[in-house]
Amino acid sequence: MMNGKTALVTGASRGIGRAIALRLAREGMNVAIVYAGNTAAAEETAQGVREAGAQANCYACDVADEAAVGALCKRVAAEMGPIYALVNNAGITRDKLAAQMKEEDFDAVLDVNLKGAFHFIRHTYSGFLRQRAGRIVNISSVVGLMGNAGQANYAASKAGLIGLTKSIARELAPRGITVNAVAPGFIDTDMTRVLPEAAKDALTAQIPLKRLGSAQDVAEVVAFLCSDGAGYLTGTVIPVDGGMAM
Ligand code: NAP
Repeated sequence: MMNGKTALVTGASRGIGRAIALRLAREGMNVAIVYAGNTAAAEETAQGVREAGAQANCYACDVADEAAVGALCKRVAAEMGPIYALVNNAGITRDKLAAQMKEEDFDAVLDVNLKGAFHFIRHTYSGFLRQRAGRIVNISSVVGLMGNAGQANYAASKAGLIGLTKSIARELAPRGITVNAVAPGFIDTDMTRVLPEAAKDALTAQIPLKRLGSAQDVAEVVAFLCSDGAGYLTGTVIPVDGGMAM
């Protein structure tokens, strides 16, 4: 039963993370909404969660800051009870061809996308062990499976998340905690809205289902992975990409 349990969703102020928060709230989960700085957007997500009849608290926290993540995980457990579902969704891009990509562009993307997830896993680990139950879902990307010109940093971070997922899945499986990754394709959010129309058209042409995905498409799969029905899936990577990476 997901009803009444707590989910922590990073990057839940906007886009895919918001859709995940709202979808989990529909299952009765209370949601800790973690975001970087956009308080108005986070409050809007929280309002949606409350309208679904669940509890929501907003927490501003840079996922790349390990000390801040440690303090946050303690605070969430104290204010909302043990974290049953951890969804590592916060992510950024700093796209450039590798020759122009500075070390700081590489590090910033790895720090948020990959180390951010590791920090949350590390600081919820003992809580999961105590519960002997729970779900971790990491939001990777098809780019982590296929690579993409101009996204060496992003692809490395998303491929890294897959290795992280499988390793933690093996560590936590004996206690009945599942750890999976979702690999979205081209999803219509703020992250992709910045692309020129011509680039979007070219990308859409490569998608067998011939449309961009929605944040809702991804949220449905994450909700399934957090459900009791997904109890025998662990260490998997589920593409939600309209067939793009097959
Ligand atoms: P988005 O619309 O750009 O939203 C990004 C979210 O992450 C926001 O909630 C933002 O908070 C938060 N965030 C960014 N940096 C953070 C930090 N350092 N600490 C805490 N929170 C931070 O992104 P999206 O498109 O929904 O993407 C969500 C995830 O899906 C990302 O991991 C992305 O890589 C992945 N993904 C997206 C697509 C796509 O096509 N959109 C495809 C594959 C995978 P603020 O609102 O406070 O800034």
